[in-house]
Parts: sequence; C-alpha cells; structure tokens
Amino acid sequence: MEKTKKTAAADTLATAIARAVRPDPAVLVDQWAEANRILPPDTPEPGPYRSSRTPYLIDIQRAMSPGSPWREGWFQKGHQIGGSVSGENMIGAWVSTAAGSLLVVFPTIDDAKQWEISRFEPMRSGTAALRRRIRPANEKGADNTKLRKRYPGGVMRLVGSNRVGALKSATIRYVKFEEPDEYPPDLADQGNPIALAKARTANFGRKAKIYGDGTPTIEGASAIATQFARGDQRRWHLVCPDCAHPQHLRWEQLKWTDADPATARYACEECGTLNAEAAWKARNYATRPKACTEEAAATAGLAHWVATATGEPGVASWHINALAAPIGWRPWPGLVQEWLAAQGNEEALKTFYNNNLGQPYALKLGTEVGAEALQQRAERYPLMTVPAGGLVLVAGVDTQDNRLAIVIRAFGRGEESWGVWHGEIYGDTSQPEVWGKLRDLLDAPVRHANGQVMRIDAAGIDSGGHRTEDVYAFCRDAKLRGRNWFAIKGARAYDSPKLGRPRAVEFTWRGVAVPGGVELRHVGTQAIKNLIDGRLKLTKPGGGMYHFPLGFEADYYRQLRAERRQRKRDSAGRSWLWWVKGTERNEAWDCEVYAYAALLYAISGQHADQVWAKREQLFGRVQQIDLLDPDATIVAAIQAKTAQPVADAPPSDELPFEDLTNAPTLDAALKRRRVPPRPRRGGFVMGWR
Ligand SMILES: [Zn+2]
Repeated sequence: MEKTKKTAAADTLATAIARAVRPDPAVLVDQWAEANRILPPDTPEPGPYRSSRTPYLIDIQRAMSPGSPWREGWFQKGHQIGGSVSGENMIGAWVSTAAGSLLVVFPTIDDAKQWEISRFEPMRSGTAALRRRIRPANEKGADNTKLRKRYPGGVMRLVGSNRVGALKSATIRYVKFEEPDEYPPDLADQGNPIALAKARTANFGRKAKIYGDGTPTIEGASAIATQFARGDQRRWHLVCPDCAHPQHLRWEQLKWTDADPATARYACEECGTLNAEAAWKARNYATRPKACTEEAAATAGLAHWVATATGEPGVASWHINALAAPIGWRPWPGLVQEWLAAQGNEEALKTFYNNNLGQPYALKLGTEVGAEALQQRAERYPLMTVPAGGLVLVAGVDTQDNRLAIVIRAFGRGEESWGVWHGEIYGDTSQPEVWGKLRDLLDAPVRHANGQVMRIDAAGIDSGGHRTEDVYAFCRDAKLRGRNWFAIKGARAYDSPKLGRPRAVEFTWRGVAVPGGVELRHVGTQAIKNLIDGRLKLTKPGGGMYHFPLGFEADYYRQLRAERRQRKRDSAGRSWLWWVKGTERNEAWDCEVYAYAALLYAISGQHADQVWAKREQLFGRVQQIDLLDPDATIVAAIQAKTAQPVADAPPSDELPFEDLTNAPTLDAALKRRRVPPRPRRGGFVMGWR
C-alpha cells in the first residue's frame, strides 16, 4: 500500500484542508490508548494499556482530548505514578485522530533526544495507528529527523526550552511541556518558554490543547506549582473504608508506631479510623464502569477527582502524591522508611517532598528579610493613593476582640503591588460602631495616580476569632450592596489551596436565622505566607515586588516580620516548616495574607492578563515611574522627618463619600424577611460529556 511520494504529498494537503473544516471526531485519549497502545516492558504495567490500573489518569486524558472544552491542563505530581504514559497517550491520540502541529518542550535538547529514543520510538513502532502515519526517521525520503516528525495534518517538533523562541513563525495546535521546573525562568529579554510556546497556539482558540506535567522543586520558584495554581486544582479523593468520607491523602495523616514502617496506617480525616494501604485501595480502586464520570465514581464509592478552586477559565489542574499510587507501586511502609531516613538531611527531605509528595519544598529557615531592610525600601508616594501601575485594589482585615487591623493594597501586572493604607480601628468588635467605621473605610474612594478614582474591588475579612457572627453579618450586609467583602477562615492543612471554593454557612444574627447564610472562603495561609515571604526578597520593580509608602510606620514592618518558620513535629515525629506566631503582634502580616486572598477573589474566574489589560484601558496605559531613582530612595533619617502619621481612617471631609443612607442593609432585609439568593456551593468536577 505504499503510495508514491507525489500522491502522499497531495494527500497530506487534502487531509489538512479536510481537517480544517471538519469537526474533531469525539475521540477520548484514554479510549484511544486502550484500543491502540501496548506499553513496553520497562514500564510499571507492560502490555496492553488499561485505564483501570491508574484511574486517576482518565480525567486528565479526557480533559486533554481533541474535542474537550478545556484548553490547558497542568499535572503536578511525584515520580513513579505512571504520569508520563498519559502525556504519551495524548501525543498518540492527537497525531492519529485530530492532527495539527505539535510542539513538545523539554528542559534541554539532550532530554528531547533521549525521549525520542527511549519513549517515542518504542511507542511509534509498537502502535499500528502511529506506524501508519509517521515514517521512521532513518527511512529514505521520509523527511523525518529525530526532532521533527511529519504526519498527515501536521508536524511534531521536539525542542529544548532554551530554543522555543526560535520557532517564531510556527503556528501550533498542541503543546506538551515536560518537567517545566527545569526550564530557564527567562530567555534573554523574550519572556519565559511556557508563555512563548503558548503564544503559538493563539489561532486555535479552544481547539488548542496545552498540557504540562512535572515534579515541583522549590517553594516560590516552581513553574509547575505556579501553573497548577492557575487551574481548578483537582485533588484525587479516596473514600474512607470505614465512614466513606472522601478525602485526598495527605502525608501528615499517615501514622506509624515505634519508628516501624510496617505499622503504617492512614487516619481518616473525618472518623479517625486507621486503615492499612490494602484496605484503602481495595474498594477505591475497584474497576470503574465504562465511560464513568468523576461524579459517578464518587457516587459509587470509588476514588475520584474533586476541584478545590475556581481557576482561570479553560484551565484544569491536578495534583497527586505517591500515597495514592496503585497498590504494589509505592508501598506505604517503603515511603515511611524513606521519610525516616531523610530526617535531618535537608537535601533528602527536599527530594522526599518533590518526588514522593509532589510538593515544592520550602527553603531553609533564617532566610527571611528583616523589618528594617523593608522599611528602608519605602517609597515616596502618599497614603490612600494608588501609584500608576496599581490596577486592582483590595483590602485584608484582621479581626481582634478590641480592634480591627486593615491593609489596603493595589496590585498590577505580574502581581506587582503597592501598599496604599495600613491602620487600625479601635473599639469593641461585638458592637456595631466599629463595623460602621470599617464600612466607611472600605467604601471610601481612593485616588489613582492618573487622577481617577478607584474603589476597593474585594476585601477579605477574618472570621476566625470570637467575632464570627459579626463578620458574617458585616459581609452579608455588604453583599446586599453589591460589595465583594467576604468572610475568610484560615485552612488547617499545610497544602490547602490559597483560596478555597465558596461554602455557604448558615448563621443567626440577633436571634434570627439569616436566610441563605453567608459565603465563607478557606484561605491557605501557609501557602500565601510562603509566597509573600519570597516576594519580600525582591528588590527590583516588576512582577511580584511588594512596594511600601513612606507613611507605613515601623510597627507595620515589625508585625509583617513577627512570624518565623519553625519545623513543627507531630506525635508521629513528622515535621513541616510552618509559619508560627510568636509573642509579638502580627496583624499586618495576617492582613497582607488576607489582602492577597482578596486579590485572588477579585480576579477569580478570569484570565489575569485580561484583567490587567481591561484595567489598563480604564486607567490609561501609564508610563511606569521609576520609584527607585536615587531621588526617591529614602534612608531612615529622611523618613523620620517626612513620614506622615497613620490616621485611623482617611479624613472623610476630603473624600466624596457615596451616600449610603438609603442603601439596603442586612437588618432591614431581616425585618422584611426577604430571602436573598443562596451562595453557590463548591462541588465535584463536572463531567463535560
Ligand atoms: Zn472515615
């Protein structure tokens, strides 16, 4: 059936045209793999590919199928859980069922060559559907090389991450990123390899598929963790063999006795019952019915994915660790043994976090920037004024019994940010007066450097202390007036998402049950603290940098740096680097954490780049002022003379307050017994088929 070269070329063109006008066949990557792939002997499960062995790879492959509405997928994972097979399946299914050009990005060109020899060529020669379409590189007239493969409808290129910029004119439908944490962060003046490769897919809109998988490295500098955070952060849930509560397996729940790995049992986060690996996995990993959705799997008591965040539109993300590997792959006693051996050895611990837990590792203790160094970086711009680059204005409020502490901060492109106001409102927070003042402050218009007026886009209010009901009432009241002021609570787990999904909470206010309750968000305080701590080290204006105005007093900086990271051990002898409160006050630090959560809230469900672009149109694209020119740099001596005292609130006679006399309030609503709409609950990953 060998065609002449000429017909083959004509055929290729005809196929390409036909493909362009025809909708994609409804092929699912996992089903294509089951029908076509035989795994080579050096993989954990050689032989015909079976989804049932690794049910967590099904959702990932479906989301990245040619006809799926998801455009991007990011899989943050440890080693040896079969993850690379799903990426190969995607490449095979893309090439043979809905062809378009494909780019595979590796850390280096040597990695690309190695992958071609050890993974791609065995897949090609062992899969009839691919053999038919891609001729071997060494065949005469095939016009294929090790790094460029032609097939009907497109061409696959394998590149090193430092060479992505060389593909200037290439238009690509599919991109696969391998181990993005090993890429260079920036190509000289060209941006990072991920952004460059993604830009090539712009013409394909939703039909493009961008997929990356990898193991994270260092906290705050991990590319895969950054991409994971952009998505809906799906976590693999197993149901407890005793109480059927679904949960994602976390290392701190694994228990053992007398340093004996053989005693390893997992404690259910709901009922506390200890069960061995076999008990957890026997039921959860029973074979799924054909075409089973994640929701159906959950209903049937099987392991399943649950999205834990909203994420940018079209961006799916998954995280899994070695505890969830199929039985026999990564036995729990072996993991405990590795853990025990790694104690006291920073490098071994990092390897354990990265390769087994699929988590970035937080850098050593004692690397924090001090309060004085931060204050010396303060810049000359007035309080309650947003410098030119600030585009989204947010606030974080820490609730104490006798005062509220507030930080107002403006964020711009790359999440560069400027402190706008910090201060306290004193008074008994169980009384309405204090909350009335907070309401006035958060409603106050704020001047932008270009002369326009901004309003606070979102505010996160801490509901964790003794004033939970007051915070709920304040936020519910604000909702009636269309304000995005929301109640937050610090999440307990170290690896909680920075901003959790909305949760409806019932509460009573002055003896009356509030219809619909209030929307509460859990905040991953440890993750946000690690992020901000990393950003405080930045001294060059640009993405991530924290700027402070001269008007922030020494107290603010002391509070910002009041916590230290400590290795905390639990009863089983395991340790984590937690941010821990000392005896000093730390409200400013908490406020900054809540303000960052408010930023995530304000831009949630939107592409960050589009948010910045939209706001830049509103505020005019202003030339960035160099705030760090020698004239503006302030040493402590000058600062002592020029710093303005921080007022309790901005002077109200100078700012045109909105007249809120007739605005709806919670009290009035309760009197009228009107039932406001119920906040949306978080839930399962919706099957899209
Ligand atoms: Zn249980």
